[in-house]
Order: sequence, then C-alpha cells, then structure tokens
Amino acid sequence: MTTPLDAEQLLRGAALHVTRPRVAVLTAVYAHPHAETDSIIGVVREDLGEVSHQAVYDVLRALTAAGLIRRIQPSGSVARYESRVGDNHHHVVCRSCGAIADVDCAVGTTPCLTASDDHGFTIEDAEVVYWGRCPECVAAASAATGG
Ligand SMILES: [Zn+2]
Ligand SMILES: [Zn+2]
Repeated sequence: MTTPLDAEQLLRGAALHVTRPRVAVLTAVYAHPHAETDSIIGVVREDLGEVSHQAVYDVLRALTAAGLIRRIQPSGSVARYESRVGDNHHHVVCRSCGAIADVDCAVGTTPCLTASDDHGFTIEDAEVVYWGRCPECVAAASAATGG
C-alpha cells in the first residue's frame, strides 16, 4: 500500500461498525499479506495492547464474511488472510518453508473462471495453488548439496 489505508472508510463501506479491534485487524492484514492468525494477533497487540485470541478470530471472521479480506488455506498450512479480494488471483506456495506469493490471473480477464464443464453451476471464484520451492529454499538446497 502506497496510500494510507482508510480502514474506517472500508468498514463503513461494508456496513460494519467501526471498532478499534476491527480497524487494527484490517490494518494488520493490509500491512502483512498472507499473515497467519498468530502473527496478526501479534501485530494487533502492538497496536491495541492486550486483546484476546477470540476477539481477533471474531474480527477476522466478520471481515472475511463482509468481503473486506480473503481467507486462504493451502493444504497443510494454517489459515492466512490477505487484503486482495475480488480479483481471482492465485498463489504459489513453497513446499519447504511455506512461503506464499500472489500470482495474477491473466491480466484483465479471468480465464480460469471459464470451466471446461461448469456442471450448471454459477462459477464465482477459482482457487488455484501452484506448489513448488521458493528461491531461498532452492538456493539452500543446492548449497547443501554443494551444487
Ligand atoms: Zn521456501
Ligand atoms: Zn494473495
């Protein structure tokens, strides 16, 4: 984010009451894409002081339900949250360290939403996870083998 986040504006736009925990959690998710719940709790506590896990979980659930943030959970990973919503982007995940990066769908279109056979469903979202190894893990592996 290059512009300061107007969390209050986003909350109001989603018809949610503006509360300090909601502002803090939303700000944390914008600042730390793909953060897991525990690290979001850590960031929120720096901001608000003591706040319960349950309170943060509740806010994350409310923000996700309102479409302000997106919950992703690659298999074998804990749930993570991000502020990029509604653009049908995908993720590349490192098998070794769990690093996650965004991968855009084709620019301007969402070809993977055109299923080869939609079975009569109305398709809204396509979740694609590319699995592999991140550059750091590839470099570490080749260093370890002397290659
Ligand atoms: Zn890695
Ligand atoms: Zn993402």
